[in-house]
Amino acid sequence: MAEYEKLVISEAEGCWLTTTTGQRLFDGVASLWCNVHGHRHPSIDEAIRNQLGRVAHITTLGMSADITEALAERIVEITPGDLSHVFFSSDGSSSVEAALKMALQYWHQRQNPRPKKTRYLAMSLAYHGDTTGAVSLGGIKYFHQLFAPIVFTPIRGPLPCSYRLPDGVSVDEACDHYAAEVETLLKQHHETLAAIVMEPLVQGAAGMITHPSGFLSRVRQLCDHYEVLLICDEVATGFGRTGRMFACDHESVTPDIMTIGKGLTGGYLPMAATVARPHLFEAFLAATAESKQFFHGHTFGGNPLAAAAAMASIDLFSENNLLESVEQKGRVLRSSLAGIANHANVGDIRGRAMMVGIELVKDRETKMPFDSAELVGKRVCQRATELGVWVRPLGDVVILMPPLIATDEELQRAGAVVCQAIGEVLEGES
Ligand code: PLP
Repeated sequence: MAEYEKLVISEAEGCWLTTTTGQRLFDGVASLWCNVHGHRHPSIDEAIRNQLGRVAHITTLGMSADITEALAERIVEITPGDLSHVFFSSDGSSSVEAALKMALQYWHQRQNPRPKKTRYLAMSLAYHGDTTGAVSLGGIKYFHQLFAPIVFTPIRGPLPCSYRLPDGVSVDEACDHYAAEVETLLKQHHETLAAIVMEPLVQGAAGMITHPSGFLSRVRQLCDHYEVLLICDEVATGFGRTGRMFACDHESVTPDIMTIGKGLTGGYLPMAATVARPHLFEAFLAATAESKQFFHGHTFGGNPLAAAAAMASIDLFSENNLLESVEQKGRVLRSSLAGIANHANVGDIRGRAMMVGIELVKDRETKMPFDSAELVGKRVCQRATELGVWVRPLGDVVILMPPLIATDEELQRAGAVVCQAIGEVLEGES
């Protein structure tokens, strides 16, 4: 196999990237899961150009830009239930930091304060970003282990995985089993727990770990029962990826706080948001401005250029009925992988709609992983790239998260290339 070289992109259009050496690549991961409508979409390009002609940046501290205000209203319209207050930041990790601080401060200063509630529960193999608070929640060795000395320790929940089930637990029992594990922890810790933080439905960076259906709504019920806030991190799952605007919509769940990023601007510009329900907001209202203020703010939070891109991106969902086609496109993507579904080294093909992970294993029957030194996932992705499809692995899970606007033909071709790469790299492995 050719030496792996860093790819440098000089241009992109739709789902296609062109490297400085002239290679054309299908963008199989939507530029780190964020490029929803493809590259250089005329409407988003135009919205940013128009905004440039008005104002490029205005702080949200003490003032705001009209476009940012309009975007906040728009976000309230599209997010679940009564999520109704929007706090802007610049990236997904920062939106999680804001959520953590908001939750803690809420318990301190609401009408009936519960100041002992200062801890968080996060799932096993959680990933919520790379800033320190987000790293504290994280449970992935490579991203998080080294930083243990400088972070807080969360209460660790189960890995609500539908592929590798605990001994003696059947697929049908999985949801009850994981919910019971969460409940045991809540019984023990609810007095000190500020919030449960979780990715709804699919834990992306953990390797597209897909939760049993119903688990999210069970966690919502448990949070209500034990008076613990629910923070849903939709940075990866949001904006259509799972076939609904937000993963929470699949189970009609309204978290107390939701974090969004990545696809918010169609993947164009850095922007994220922490969206809260009224009871959270009300705990920050006071007679004098300073007494209950949320002392947290980012210089570029709510940036008008990013807000213009986000408005245009959200409009495109309704203009093109995009959500209606995402589930169907997900099915096309899945069926394009049918050729390797029974391969001896393909353990699982999972995810939701346009969020797909293919787990490569040494032994399909026992689900035994490859030795990480074999770099199987990386080798498969390198081969796929040589063949014209840019995909990236998470360990030995090959990730496919193309732009939502990819055509059926593009998806079929991308799937065929990934199948070929897996077939070639794993020929005679098992
Ligand atoms: N939360 C989740 C679920 C993510 O997948 C990510 C990034 O992949 C983040 C938070 C962090 O977002 P960012 O990279 O924009 O800081």
